Amino acid sequence: MTARHSLQSAINGKVRPTKIARNAIFLISALTVVSVVVALAAAQSIPKPEWAVHDMNRPLPPVVDPGPAGPPVPAPSDAVVLFDGKDLSGWADAKGSPALWKLENGYMEAAAGTGSIRTKRGFGDCQLHIEWAAPAAVKGEGQDRGNSGVYLMDTYEVQVLDSYNNKTYADGSAAAIYGQYPPLVNACRKPGEWQAYDIIFYAPRFDKDKKLVTPARMTVLHNGILVHDNAVILGPTAQDEPQYAYHPDRMPISLQDHGHPVRYRNIWIRELKDCFAK
Ligand code: MG
Repeated sequence: MTARHSLQSAINGKVRPTKIARNAIFLISALTVVSVVVALAAAQSIPKPEWAVHDMNRPLPPVVDPGPAGPPVPAPSDAVVLFDGKDLSGWADAKGSPALWKLENGYMEAAAGTGSIRTKRGFGDCQLHIEWAAPAAVKGEGQDRGNSGVYLMDTYEVQVLDSYNNKTYADGSAAAIYGQYPPLVNACRKPGEWQAYDIIFYAPRFDKDKKLVTPARMTVLHNGILVHDNAVILGPTAQDEPQYAYHPDRMPISLQDHGHPVRYRNIWIRELKDCFAK
């Protein structure tokens, strides 16, 4: 019997599936089971928090002197420039109206009461570079000193705070993934000095039923120093018991107005494509 004859016979139901066909069916079934198990394992891979949110007993990150600030880091050729110090055209407030933060001398400054601002474009997996400075005139303490925040996908906050000689709960320090992970070290420069975050972010994945498949992950460098190494994000950072909720795969980057005149300059982003196993 030729291969073609055999296939035709199988199609016509004249013969039972060959051993090869049975093996293929078994293999496909096994692979389906494995992929479901892998998906479930990923969904369950969110670590259990070891500390309560904002636990004052959680050890503070050790201080590391990052050295002096340098000039703005040039945007690579494939980056999208989100803010070049000249205009706020890429940003809007929460209602989509023009961003009203102060713009001067190559930076923007959170203007109290104008609200948080966000990029008009949405982003998912990305490498984000952002420079910021807490007010040179020190005022307030704890969370009430130079507070702002960089939100990935408008949901997952990397804390901005003047943490130079300023104690607060560890998971609310500068460069903390707010309420979840303190930075590995406190690499804060003095208030008024420019600082940088370099954030490598992988968005969470949701399946077609909008259920979480893979949590978000983040690696962060503060002033060139590693402060988060592929941290698994527990969920939205504003929650006491973070629970993921479905959202689109691209959402704005946002900057928090916490009522303090924190400055930002030189913001650029590189979209990371096809480097995450879906
Ligand atoms: Mg904040």
